Amino acid sequence: ASAGFLSRPDRQTRHKRLSDVIVRSGESLLAIINDILDFSKIESGKLELETVPVDPSETTSHVLNLFWDPANTKGLDIAAYVAPDVPTKIEGDPVRLNQVISNLVNNAVKFTDEGAISLQVRRLPVGEDKDIATLEFSVTDNGIGIPADKLDTIFSSFSQADQTTTRRFGGTGLGLAICKRLVEAMGGEISVSSEPGKGSTFRFWIPAR
Ligand code: ADP
Repeated sequence: ASAGFLSRPDRQTRHKRLSDVIVRSGESLLAIINDILDFSKIESGKLELETVPVDPSETTSHVLNLFWDPANTKGLDIAAYVAPDVPTKIEGDPVRLNQVISNLVNNAVKFTDEGAISLQVRRLPVGEDKDIATLEFSVTDNGIGIPADKLDTIFSSFSQADQTTTRRFGGTGLGLAICKRLVEAMGGEISVSSEPGKGSTFRFWIPAR
């Protein structure tokens, strides 16, 4: 090593490390490109939602499976609960629903160093039309939280609660802006409650036929 040579196993380790960096860079670049494409599609009014049968608990477990590894790698617990009165078949856009929930869970994992993330789906007792259920999806973490004066702005495009998070956590500040527009296109609303240092809960409701 003193002569600048690496023994073969070391060289392999180094190559492995570098190729991991390349894979990760590629993935995060792709995520950024997808965010920008999605955002401009929505902004130009080209977003069209599908209306096909969706099972909310299937979507939920799909997202749970997706984030199981990333959460566990950080030592975080992750769990999901779907209330028994949530219908097993609604009309909706499974890809976009999945995208919103994934984005919230991705943020929860990203902004939590220790603890747990929970994903819940329940039916809210509102609405007069018996054929339409109001479903609430919520994602709770006990991560870094969001300062009160930033709660209003995080749903706007390119906004991040703390400018330094750009360097510490990466991201574009587009994720929540896309979530907000998708949820509103579904006829619902998204909101957040948070306490710095304690954690955050993001929730959204949608009407579901
Ligand atoms: P990005 O994650 O790419 O920065 P988002 O639009 O998804 O963009 O989020 C905007 C900002 O909201 C984040 O930069 C972060 O400051 C804050 N934020 C979002 N989710 C959480 C969370 N679960 N805990 C703490 N802060 C969050």
